[in-house]
Amino acid sequence: MNAGESHTLIVRGLMAGPDTPMDVKEHGLFIAGKSVPSRSEATAGVLDPATNQPIARVASGSEDDVGTAVEAARNAFESPEWRGLDPSKRGRLLWLLGQQVRDHFEELARIESLNVGKPIREAKGDIAYVYKLFEYYAGIADKIQGDTIPVPGARLDYTVREPLGVTAHIAPWNYPLLLASRGIAPALAAGDTVVLKPASLTPLTALMLADLAGKAGFPPGVVNVVTGPGRTAGNALADHPDVDSVTFTGSTETGKQIMQIAARRVRPVTLELGGKNPNIVFAEAKMDRALKGVLFGIFQNAGQMCWAGSRLFVHESIRDDFMKKLTDATAKLRVGPGSKEETQMGPLVSREQETSVLGYIEDGTRSGATLLVGGRKAEAADLRAGNFVMPTIFDEVAGDMRIAREEIFGPVLCAFDFREEDELIAAANDTEYGLAAVWTQDLRTAHRVASRLEVGMVTINEFPVTFPQSPFSGFKQSAVGFEQGIDAVDAYTRVKNVMVNLE
Ligand code: NAD
Repeated sequence: MNAGESHTLIVRGLMAGPDTPMDVKEHGLFIAGKSVPSRSEATAGVLDPATNQPIARVASGSEDDVGTAVEAARNAFESPEWRGLDPSKRGRLLWLLGQQVRDHFEELARIESLNVGKPIREAKGDIAYVYKLFEYYAGIADKIQGDTIPVPGARLDYTVREPLGVTAHIAPWNYPLLLASRGIAPALAAGDTVVLKPASLTPLTALMLADLAGKAGFPPGVVNVVTGPGRTAGNALADHPDVDSVTFTGSTETGKQIMQIAARRVRPVTLELGGKNPNIVFAEAKMDRALKGVLFGIFQNAGQMCWAGSRLFVHESIRDDFMKKLTDATAKLRVGPGSKEETQMGPLVSREQETSVLGYIEDGTRSGATLLVGGRKAEAADLRAGNFVMPTIFDEVAGDMRIAREEIFGPVLCAFDFREEDELIAAANDTEYGLAAVWTQDLRTAHRVASRLEVGMVTINEFPVTFPQSPFSGFKQSAVGFEQGIDAVDAYTRVKNVMVNLE
């Protein structure tokens, strides 16, 4: 079982379980343009991580339901309404879906904040990113084209970029709608159809998106959502024989399983996986900006980010001053429910995630790292029922400690210092993951260090930031392939070569 999934309560029978308060909304799967119950009628509770109280019940999709969704997506793919649609009109539908997201902005942000626990301000940023993704790929739909190729003789050789067919998308719980849309938008632009399996902890905005796709005018079956546990619904989707590609964002462990399935099926995958990223502060960095960036880089979304700057490297000449200011600022962060405007850091997504993060903290302390701040559950009476872990910083961390090597996926920063660049690069690259940030005012240092880091993305004097236009990827065990940008569409198309003899 994957971390974070065991608390979902699966009940058989009626959609509402005995623990379900009257005002908890029920949601079906979204297949072929409408909401339908799971064939098994199983449902699962969805909790508010700030209180662990139910906020919704969703249908728990089975292998059969996945089969129905894939069939709906295949039928839609073959239908003249979708296959025969002008690419520019397809682009227009993407644009209209972006507009639907804009029109439902407040509601989507509120639900995302409530379900993930993230501060409402951050959830609004996520939803704004979602409509920008659809708008960006709207403009690309009619620019997906092949080449003419100079070959010997009286021949015309040309390529056509065709859609793949049915694309599967398996999304995590930390940025539920944003990360799902990051794959869905280019797939739709390419003319594919979609079956999305959101994380079982956070299915609500994905279901809304499928409904909004219908409102925007996408034909039924182009966008389908099957909610349910990863080990059943997710696995069935990844392994379905009629799926043409799998886009997965989640843990490296699950990513490896998806890749094994793909190997067996000989099918393309895009994997965006975990991280243990260096956030590097040189002596000449602008201190205030670097401080903000380091705080943001580890405590945004309560540290539940693949690109969290979870390993801080500070030059020894500024170390004492920097660490003091960082510790003071961390102690002042306002921890609370995401729905409160003043909250700067919310709860972890689930009790399992909280237990896992507290376990790492205990391990760090036992291994001899120095705890500078945090290191415990929030003690305020109104936060006790939720999954709140105080923002935590460890100093004096040895490179071989578990907290230095494994992705904690919570608000825990490990600090190291460095003197020489060579020693820094060796330590920063000493991980199986590959994403990073650098803080310096010296352009030569910035570009030299950027080229030496074995990571898919380096941000200089900013952390973390990305745009729909910029490729998003990691090296080593952080990713296979990449998402975002014009070229991400290639992952959702196939190239056909046509050779014409003109003699
Ligand atoms: P997870 O791997 O547990 O789950 C991700 C998704 O896969 C969920 O929808 C889950 O239900 C499903 N799943 C689980 N087991 C499955 C199986 N056997 N077959 C098919 N599907 C299965 O990851 P998570 O805990 O939801 O997310 C956290 C992880 O995601 C972290 O490691 C984080 O670094 C990573 N992540 C990476 C990126 C990136 O862009 N690189 C972005 C966000 C999160």
